[in-house]
Amino acid sequence: IKDTETILRIALQKSGRLHDDSMDLMNRSGIKFNTGAGRLVAQSTGFPVEALFLRDDDIPQTVYDGVADIGIVGENEYAEKGYELEIVKHLNFGKCRLSLAIPKSEHYTGVGWFDGKKVATSYPRILKKFFEEKKIQAEIHEIAGSVEIAPGIGLADAIFDIVSSGSTLVANSLKEVGVVMYSQAVVVANKNLEPEKREILDQMLFRFNSVMASATNKYVLLNAPNERVKDIVKILPGMKSPTVLPLAQEGWSSIHSVISEEQFWEVIDQLKACGAEGILIIPIEKMIL
Ligand code: ATP
Ligand code: MG
Repeated sequence: IKDTETILRIALQKSGRLHDDSMDLMNRSGIKFNTGAGRLVAQSTGFPVEALFLRDDDIPQTVYDGVADIGIVGENEYAEKGYELEIVKHLNFGKCRLSLAIPKSEHYTGVGWFDGKKVATSYPRILKKFFEEKKIQAEIHEIAGSVEIAPGIGLADAIFDIVSSGSTLVANSLKEVGVVMYSQAVVVANKNLEPEKREILDQMLFRFNSVMASATNKYVLLNAPNERVKDIVKILPGMKSPTVLPLAQEGWSSIHSVISEEQFWEVIDQLKACGAEGILIIPIEKMIL
């Protein structure tokens, strides 16, 4: 590699809830980093990309300033920081929601409940905007962590925080009363990427798409009597149309197709009802769209 060659710099979470899924996606896209423990910068082998490992709080600004060209960060963090970036891809991991929660014992009367209340959060900007839209006069108390204990220790009347399963709320005698935002990990990009970098980004997104499509699709093989093939083909959409091959056994065929995870169980039930036998479901390594 010549040192004049363009390199795309990607900001990734150093450790935490987005780190493993981000690294896994890069790895499965054939972009591997020479990481050592505690290293903040890592070059990739086989792809013109360099990774910067940061706290997720710092990723939006780093991309905005152009220190990194792109980054992987939660939509919640992106919205909170407020830097203008381009969201180029939703990644389907790091899913959570930002919700309002109040003590379990409180009687909730609707969003007006928050009028005159004090709400603890690490997301003051998103919350301020929400209260302004709803014309609620509430005091926002910013704290960096352990938001869920604030009501219990008398620091606030309510909280606004990340919820995924809700078990943290229950453990702190709180109840969720409103979702303000749903979030997942996204690829954000600087708005002024030079064409050479944009090209590398597009190649990378192409790989991400292939990896993500393979995760949500399965390869299906099954056997069926020839007279049922027509009905079965109608159930199986496939990428173009299903493959039908004759079996050695007279009067039988093997049918191959791809089905998506959302349709999966429904399609399998229909196939069985249609006389399909020996159904095999095989994971797809990569799916080139
Ligand atoms: P950092 O040290 O990088 O600042 P952090 O403590 O701020 O890390 P994490 O807890 O690692 O952040 O979460 C990173 C992101 O993962 C969140 O901003 C959110 O987008 C997403 N996320 C998904 N599920 C959850 C969850 N259950 N709790 C917290 N964050 C979640
Ligand atoms: Mg953080």
